[in-house]
Amino acid sequence: METQNKKTAFSTDSADPTVKQQLLSLLQLHYGYTSFRLGQEKAIDHILAGKNTIVIMPTGGGKSLIYQLPALVLEGVTIVVSPLIALMKDQVDGLIKNGIPATFINSSITPAETLERLEAVKNGHYKILYVAPERFYSQEFLNAMQNIKVSLFAIDEAHCISQWGHDFRPSYLKIKQAVTAVGNPIVVALTATATPEVREDIIKQLGIENPEQVVTGFSRPNLQFGVIQASDSEKFRLIVDAVNSAPDGTGIVYTGTRNKAEQIAQVLLDQGVDAVVYHAGMSGEDRHWVQENFMNNKAKVIVATNAFGLGIDKRDIRFVVHFEMPGTIEAYYQEAGRAGRDGKPSFCLLFYHPRDRYLQEFFIKGDNPPPNIVLEIYELLLNYGTDNILITYSELAEGLSDKLPEMAIGTSLKILEREGYLSRPNEKVGSAYLELIARPEAILESLGTRSKSSIEIFKKLISRYHDEITNGWRFNPDETAEILNIKKDSLMRLVRKLADAQLVKYEPPFRGTEINILKRVDSSEINIDFSAMKAKQKNAYAKLDQMEEYIYHFDCRQKYILDYFGDLNAKPCGKCDNCLTGGGYQRKNQAPKREIKAKEKFDYQKYNKKKNSSFSSPFSNLENEKENTESEIKKTSLLSTKLTQLETLDLFVKGSNIDEIATARELATSTIAGHLLFLIEKKLIKNIDKLVPLKRQDKILKAIKELGPDKLTPIKESLGEEFDWDEIKFVIALERSKAGK
Ligand SMILES: [Zn+2]
Repeated sequence: METQNKKTAFSTDSADPTVKQQLLSLLQLHYGYTSFRLGQEKAIDHILAGKNTIVIMPTGGGKSLIYQLPALVLEGVTIVVSPLIALMKDQVDGLIKNGIPATFINSSITPAETLERLEAVKNGHYKILYVAPERFYSQEFLNAMQNIKVSLFAIDEAHCISQWGHDFRPSYLKIKQAVTAVGNPIVVALTATATPEVREDIIKQLGIENPEQVVTGFSRPNLQFGVIQASDSEKFRLIVDAVNSAPDGTGIVYTGTRNKAEQIAQVLLDQGVDAVVYHAGMSGEDRHWVQENFMNNKAKVIVATNAFGLGIDKRDIRFVVHFEMPGTIEAYYQEAGRAGRDGKPSFCLLFYHPRDRYLQEFFIKGDNPPPNIVLEIYELLLNYGTDNILITYSELAEGLSDKLPEMAIGTSLKILEREGYLSRPNEKVGSAYLELIARPEAILESLGTRSKSSIEIFKKLISRYHDEITNGWRFNPDETAEILNIKKDSLMRLVRKLADAQLVKYEPPFRGTEINILKRVDSSEINIDFSAMKAKQKNAYAKLDQMEEYIYHFDCRQKYILDYFGDLNAKPCGKCDNCLTGGGYQRKNQAPKREIKAKEKFDYQKYNKKKNSSFSSPFSNLENEKENTESEIKKTSLLSTKLTQLETLDLFVKGSNIDEIATARELATSTIAGHLLFLIEKKLIKNIDKLVPLKRQDKILKAIKELGPDKLTPIKESLGEEFDWDEIKFVIALERSKAGK
């Protein structure tokens, strides 16, 4: 998928061969390719045949070519709607560089320029016009467009039209009107993320009947997917192993909260891994620094919330680990898919605990406030008696009858804004307040000699702002940190520490939002489609269910995802944890036995041979382990050992004995015994009564005490034939784990 395929395009269908030849020449002339990629050809065929088309193709699959090339052969102009205003100029510059006359209209240009460009488009100076969807709110603009001969209307990021999508934009609902205004030309809607239901919604909202649909290119054959079920503390251990299993590669660890991101990074740093944190709570400057260091490989691992990744094009990311389950398959595949863009083997691991669901449910609730809350917030705002209100979310929360997360308040305001009842021009951040209560000398003394950096920051602060702080000072933390040349986080940490110790008086900066009431009506007359909101919430839960099904899915994981996206040609990948073990990790016992077909096996071996020796994937080791003898297991990486041992633990906890576990896992009993030994040593098994009856444990203990725990053979000899090696080893391991060794 990374390179254009060499197959000669347009061999078997009905479109005009001369047009196709022309297209191929243009492809080579303007883009330098000699053939089309999978899907491009099909989609272009439909467009040239005059059919409305929906194209679902991942980012980087070559979507833009699908409308840019027909634009060159069709009469008149192609209009491209895109929400990515910041990228528009670059896209147009790129086209011009390729010799394709194009221009754009969005909020970055003046009304006079807009008219000028429309005039030039009308006069045939351009073949492609990019337009921001917000323009369609203007009737004047729509009128002006009526004079232009439009032959193709391309809608990029088409999922923005669907409120089921993750990126709904109300302005996209205006597109249908715009299409009508320009005389219903051929429509092509393109997106990277669309489930069948989003696709249905795109079709419905655009009002295009029976469009052709092209779904392609979602398969990522170089990615190995896997799921590990683990508790939170186990996750922290596993993450270190996962990171270490790709010693030369960089990777992303995604987590649901900022707090967790900080914790994970700390654990990695403690283990000597160069990890950095990225989340939306950091200043723009800090985020930029972090991103830079990750991009140029100075930082090995970036621990991030989902705020990280958009627009990131780092091709050599070797792994993406999700510390918790995300809320949707779309989100998961998009984030996991950032691994291995260079086509080299990379792994995508998902840590799961049933509790992960609660966090996602919390997000869904925050995203879908109940109707009565939306109305209550509206009433609350009306009661302020002024149309311009400056308020914080927590102030709003205090006025409500039910306790509600701030996120739900934000969403409620967004709904009221969308429906035209209010507007929010901008977020406001005020200043913080700081006043000394104790004398500077006393404060310095309280800091002690250990916290060198705190002392340094305090000295800087006091030498520059002594008088201000003594008298009580309103300050902007960002500015102050910059003036003092220190990190804002360090400064604020110190200030909060001093405030906690009652050495200073501190009020955090005011963070609020400015709200303008646009419509004053009785809340009973408010006209919001709450049934649609309810449906949206139901949909969010359904998506969460599908995400959780992925965890418990017992067949190929990549195929599950591709099926989800409607890519019906998906085949088992042969390398995910399920493909390798021939059945689900979690439900192996219930899963039907699945034989790995010869072809898949071959593919896997090929992968293994090609595998760079410096990069070892946990899954390949997992496979090795099944075939190797126990002594060789020690050579495999820690993670692979733990992966398989956790599976053994799972069965052990459920009450299976060694033989049963060995049968279920198709492994030697000696291997299982080795796993159990490891689990006892790591304190994951604390009670071995099921393995060694108490009375026998006592006898073994006695022998250990007499002879010493290191004298395995003498112990065995003294106990005699009726005791086996494993029993003795289990008891020794337990004693060692108790002693903390
Ligand atoms: Zn698979």
